[in-house]
Amino acid sequence: MSKFQPAGSHFIGGEYVEDLAGTPFDVIFPGTGETIAQLHAATPEIVSRAVASAKQAQSGWEAMTGTERGRVLRRAADIMRARNHELSVLETHDTGKPLQETLVADATSGADALEYFGGLAASLTGETIPLADGDMVFTIREALGVCVGIGAWNYPTQIACWKAAPALACGNAMVFKPSEMTPLSALKVAEILIEAGAPAGIFNVVQGMGEVGAQLVADDRVAKVSLTGSVPTGRKVYAAAAAGMKHVTMELGGKSPLVVFEDADIEDAVSGAILGNFYSSGQVCSNGTRVFVHRSIRESFLERLIDRLGNAVLGDPRDETTSFGPMVSEAQLAIVERYVEQGIEEGARLVTGGERLDRPGFWMPPTVFSDVTDRMTIAREEIFGPVMCVLDFDTEEEVMARANDTQFGLAAGVFTRDLARAHRVARGFEAGTCYINTYNDAPVEAPFGGVKLSGVGRENSKAAIEHYSQIKSIYLRLSPLEAPF
Ligand code: NDP
Repeated sequence: MSKFQPAGSHFIGGEYVEDLAGTPFDVIFPGTGETIAQLHAATPEIVSRAVASAKQAQSGWEAMTGTERGRVLRRAADIMRARNHELSVLETHDTGKPLQETLVADATSGADALEYFGGLAASLTGETIPLADGDMVFTIREALGVCVGIGAWNYPTQIACWKAAPALACGNAMVFKPSEMTPLSALKVAEILIEAGAPAGIFNVVQGMGEVGAQLVADDRVAKVSLTGSVPTGRKVYAAAAAGMKHVTMELGGKSPLVVFEDADIEDAVSGAILGNFYSSGQVCSNGTRVFVHRSIRESFLERLIDRLGNAVLGDPRDETTSFGPMVSEAQLAIVERYVEQGIEEGARLVTGGERLDRPGFWMPPTVFSDVTDRMTIAREEIFGPVMCVLDFDTEEEVMARANDTQFGLAAGVFTRDLARAHRVARGFEAGTCYINTYNDAPVEAPFGGVKLSGVGRENSKAAIEHYSQIKSIYLRLSPLEAPF
């Protein structure tokens, strides 16, 4: 087996664990279709052991000072940065994303989260609320307990860290289940946390498909579930968590609008559309896949877009000059191919791309449809691939109504030089994350998350603290206590 084969499928209680009784599955490098590792899904015993390990470690971790916990997280961030190249190579093999991307967007983003929440850990305090006669209430911000993280396959390192960093900063322990398509990098996060001084059991990783996630969510010892995934999975996980009245964070899918007004800087707007549709081969939840372009500039926008797409380098993802990689799997490629067929059948104009490349691996080139109308399937459903829909519009009022006419509400973007309009439009978007003259930035300092079907709760920023801690109010009476009898 390759150098990417881990010492065990799972990471529990500070060490690699294997259980050959679990269903075996292959880890495939999407650039060629080669198998790079073989793992085993967690059996119910393994899942239970991981939760027990987290439960046992959590109270000691919470009892440490925030400064001590923060130090561990910041050390982990430093280790991740020092190993960025090695981790990026692994991420590229796990996901197929080009090294050019993984070097700057995966372990680095994970390290940012560890550093940011490591820095916040020491400042998580309650407040004192004065009452009459010197009585008071003081509040304590407590950990929730054992948190479960369940990840999608597009940003495995980032998702693991975006969930683990705030959870651990607040004194929780975590059991993380990566997508079975990209199981390797979360194990590295677990290794690094141990090396940074985290107590064994604070961050555990178990592998497997949906049923492993479902077992974790149903476990009575679990206090919170944070899922990054699709809306259908979100519905199931939210419902299962509700049965145990568990806290949830849901980071789900989207079909986000990107509106380009006639006064926009066309080069910037084309850059935004490229970043919002083709980065990570379009496998990004917040992508602005409905690109509304003012009718008066549609042709010039399309012309520049096609010119610029000609510069994309579809090569070996391990080569740093490659700027566009494969889809994560044959199955995801088949989904995208089906959407392309539907787009053509429903009358959209295929401007470029649309046909899988005749080479090993799972390749769909950047694909653009124009003449897309609001009711077409490709304009309504999340495709999660490199497929951009260009729609025309005439007025701001019209485009806002159409942009918001979706059940999703993850992100939205606007390109215009008119500052007042930019603000008006951003405020009018029904979306959790909005962009003015940019697209898809996700710094750890800013809250990230969706409204409507796109999610519940926020990741990153100080807002995430609210989702990984709870407030206890303690009443203190100094004055004599009166009672009716
Ligand atoms: P899925 O919803 O298919 O899976 C997400 C995770 O949930 C996987 O680990 C999956 O396991 C697991 N899972 C599946 N069923 C259950 C269940 N019943 N109980 C518990 N866990 C379960 O999403 P994908 O992995 O296909 O990722 C793509 C989706 O994720 C897109 O819709 C995308 O928009 C969304 N996404 C959202 C982001 C955001 O921040 N808003 C960011 C990235 C992606 P397995 O697949 O291994 O069987």
